[in-house]
Amino acid sequence: MTMHPTPDAARLQQAVAQLDAEMIDTLSAFVAARSPSGAEQPAADFLEARLQALGLDCERIVLDSDRIRSSPMFSCPCDPDGGRHNLLARHLPKEGGGRSVLFNGHLDVVPTGPEQLWSAPPFEPHVKDDWLFGRGAGDMKGGIVCALMAFKALRRLGLQPAGVVGFNAVLDEENTGNGTLATVHALQNTLARARLSDFDAVIIPEPFAETLMAAQVGVSWLFVTLTGRPAHVAYMGQGLNPIEAAHELMADLKLLEAEWNAPENRHPAFRDVAHPINFNLGRIEGGEWNSSVPCTCTLGLRCSYYPGTEPDAAVAQLSQRLRAKAQALNPALQVEISTRGHRSPGCVYDLEHPAMQALAQAHRAVNGRDAERLACTATTDGRHFSLMTDIPVTNYGPLARDIHGIDEAVSLASMRRVTLTLAHYLVNWCGVEPI
Ligand SMILES: [Zn+2]
Repeated sequence: MTMHPTPDAARLQQAVAQLDAEMIDTLSAFVAARSPSGAEQPAADFLEARLQALGLDCERIVLDSDRIRSSPMFSCPCDPDGGRHNLLARHLPKEGGGRSVLFNGHLDVVPTGPEQLWSAPPFEPHVKDDWLFGRGAGDMKGGIVCALMAFKALRRLGLQPAGVVGFNAVLDEENTGNGTLATVHALQNTLARARLSDFDAVIIPEPFAETLMAAQVGVSWLFVTLTGRPAHVAYMGQGLNPIEAAHELMADLKLLEAEWNAPENRHPAFRDVAHPINFNLGRIEGGEWNSSVPCTCTLGLRCSYYPGTEPDAAVAQLSQRLRAKAQALNPALQVEISTRGHRSPGCVYDLEHPAMQALAQAHRAVNGRDAERLACTATTDGRHFSLMTDIPVTNYGPLARDIHGIDEAVSLASMRRVTLTLAHYLVNWCGVEPI
């Protein structure tokens, strides 16, 4: 690679500072392009226009479940494919010779909950103090904007990365991960112009407060339908109430959760995490009439487990526990268990790889101290790269608060630091060349 003078830290910082208003405007417009899982098109269109304006090679990777169904990483979809697509944009260097990186981020956001609980409408972003509020501001449009701004900061200095820089914006991260799976599959099977070999590293700017992700749990969704025996409440004793049974089943499942969390049962990567495993009763639906013992109750569960546990094995163990408890409560209680959504194995990230060490070094250059390492109690799309490819990967993104909650927000100061760290990374990992 021809050596070009690299910008010093002060010039990079200045370039990022000059992009501040653009960073806020871009994120605000991105958040306003609402993109619930299954209907991400407005955000995809918004980002596509921005990526094309940067002159990047931009292709759409259409989600085709039939193509990826045989992958061990496939999760049963929650929404129809419906022609939805990821965006994969690449900066292609002129002279080249540098190393490359792919920024992977998800477009979809989770439901807002009752909008009246929000201080302001969730898709009308606003800034207060250091925080930009809105659904998806933290998880994870803010991180995607950081990666974009890092790239733009170099452009402001008349430079561009000397290696390929990819931006992969995906759908369906929050419920299945099939979006990123579709891109990895397309890259592995020459179904896209880009190739997997284009990328020497993957960074996912999920909002984990500028930590380097060292490991993440596996996650599976289960849907449990209990069928009891309906009756007039006047003769309640003749009925069998599946909603009341659901309480007992959940209480029993929490005992299993406590078992998996016991220090002696923790995966080594989670040794210092107080409560790594969470079984969440996220949805419940049941009953027909206040004065009737209900017929059915359906629970939507999200359960986690350690890296190394196969999703199907975890689901089998959870199902067995649920069935055993139901049987103990009342053999007449019928239990049907199905899976849809996350079927996502956990993974451990190799932070000692030179590509990840370079990211750690960029963090140090900006912050004057080492990044903390995070054993994450949630899943991320990093698992696809970690388990399906040899490309080093981790998550590194800004500080956010109340993600998946009310008044979600991302810290602008943190976004500036992440942007600067990623700009350092582009300079030092990819190298630079004149535009
Ligand atoms: Zn996320």
